[in-house]
Amino acid sequence: SYRKGGYHAVRVGDSFNGGRYIAQRKLGWGQFSTVWLAYDTRTSGFVALKIQKSAPQFAQAALHEIELLSAIADGDRNNSRSVVRLIDHFKHAGPNGQHLCMVLEYLGDSLLRLIRYNHHKGLDLNKVREICICVLTGLDYLHRQLNIIHSDLKPENILLVSPIDPSKDPVKSGFTPILEKPEGGNINGGVSMSFVEKKLKRRAKMAVARISERRASMGMPQEQKPQKSLEGIDMKCKVVDFGNACWADQQFMEEIQTRQYRAPEVIIRSGYTFSADMWSFACTAFELATGDMLFTPKGGQGFTDDEDHLALMMELLGKMPKKISIGGARFKDFFDRYGDLKRIKRLKYWSLDRLLVEKYKFLEEDARDFADFLRPILDFAPEKRPTAQQCLQHPWLTSNSNSNDNKLASGINNLQI
Ligand code: ATP
Ligand code: MG
Ligand code: MG
Repeated sequence: SYRKGGYHAVRVGDSFNGGRYIAQRKLGWGQFSTVWLAYDTRTSGFVALKIQKSAPQFAQAALHEIELLSAIADGDRNNSRSVVRLIDHFKHAGPNGQHLCMVLEYLGDSLLRLIRYNHHKGLDLNKVREICICVLTGLDYLHRQLNIIHSDLKPENILLVSPIDPSKDPVKSGFTPILEKPEGGNINGGVSMSFVEKKLKRRAKMAVARISERRASMGMPQEQKPQKSLEGIDMKCKVVDFGNACWADQQFMEEIQTRQYRAPEVIIRSGYTFSADMWSFACTAFELATGDMLFTPKGGQGFTDDEDHLALMMELLGKMPKKISIGGARFKDFFDRYGDLKRIKRLKYWSLDRLLVEKYKFLEEDARDFADFLRPILDFAPEKRPTAQQCLQHPWLTSNSNSNDNKLASGINNLQI
C-alpha cells in the first residue's frame, strides 16, 4: 500500500508541518492511515500523528473525521470527556500524493491489546467499572451534547491513557526526543512497546528476580514463572477512531459497526440512533469482564452470519418480539410470518447471569449485579435501552461496597507499581 494514493512512507526523524513535528516511532496503522509518535517542537511534548492515505476517498474520509474531531475538541475545552483530542491538522506532500494529517493527543494501548495481554481471562470487575465509567462519559458527551453516533465502538477503538503522560512531561517519562534523522536512517520498523507493556515486562522481571531470590534462600530449585498482573494500573481510557462516526441527523451508511458489536436494528434494517452505540458498549463491557466476545456469529449450512447473529442474541435475551422484527426492512430475509427465524429453529436459551456463573465462574452476587447492569442495555427495542447518562447512574457503577473484589481493590490501589 506504499504506492500512489496509498500510505506515506515515514522514517524516524522525518519532519512535518514546516518542521513542527518530528517522527519518533510507529504506533500503529489501520485501513486508512499509519499512526506515528511525533515530537512537537512547539510544545516540547509528544503527540500521535495520523497520516492518511492520499487517494481522494481517503482524503474525503479524513476531512469528515477532522470535522467531527474539531467539534469534539471545541465542546470540551478542558479535555475531560474521555474522547481523543484533535490538536492540529495539515496537509503533507509526499511521493505518493497529498496526505491529510491529524495531530492527536498521544494515548496508550487499546483495550483489545489489554484483553490479549491478560490472556483473555477477563479483567477484575473494578477495572471493568473504571473503564465503563470513562467510556460512558465519552458516549454521553458525544450523544447528548454533540449529536454524534460513534458507530464503531469496540475494544480496539478505546485507548488507555498512559499512566505517565509523555505529552506533558517528556523528561520524567524517560523519553528523549529524536530531533534529527539517525545515521543509516531507515528505521520504518514495526510497532514498539507501549507503556503498559513495558511496565508489565519490568514488573514481571522484578517478580522473577524476587521469586528466584526467595527460592534460592530456601534452597529450592528455580522454576516457576510469575503470573502477569494488571494490579495498580490506572484504567483511564478514551474513545478514538471517528472515521465511521456520523451526525445523528446525517447518516450515510445503512450498515454500521463491526460485526460482533453490531446492534440488532442494524442487522434487520429498522433504523438506528445513539442506542446502537449503547449495544456495542454492552458487548464491550462483557468482553472486558470475561475475555470473550459476547456474540461471535458464524454462517453455516443454510444460514448466514446475520441469521446466526440473531439466533445467538435470542438464545441469550429471549425471542425478538414480532412487533420489533416486523419493523425491519429485512424481516422477510430472516423471519417467518410468526416472527420465528426461518432457517434456525432450535435455540438453546441461556440467561446472562447463568452464563456468567457457569461458563465464566463468576460469584453469584457479582453475576447478578453485572447482568442487572448489562441486561437493559441489550434490549431488542432500541428506545428502551438506557442512555449513557442513565447508565452512569446505575448502582453497579455508583455503589461500591457490595462486592468481594472491592475489598481487594482498595488494597490493590495502594500498591506501588
Ligand atoms: P481503521 O482501519 O481502524 O479505521 P484508521 O486508519 O482509521 O484505522 P486508527 O484506528 O485511528 O486508524 O489508528 C490506527 C492505530 O494507531 C490504532 O489502532 C492505535 O494502535 C494507533 N493510534 C491511533 N490513535 C492513537 C493515539 N491518539 N495515540 C496512540 N496510538 C494511536
Ligand atoms: Mg481503528
Ligand atoms: Mg478509522
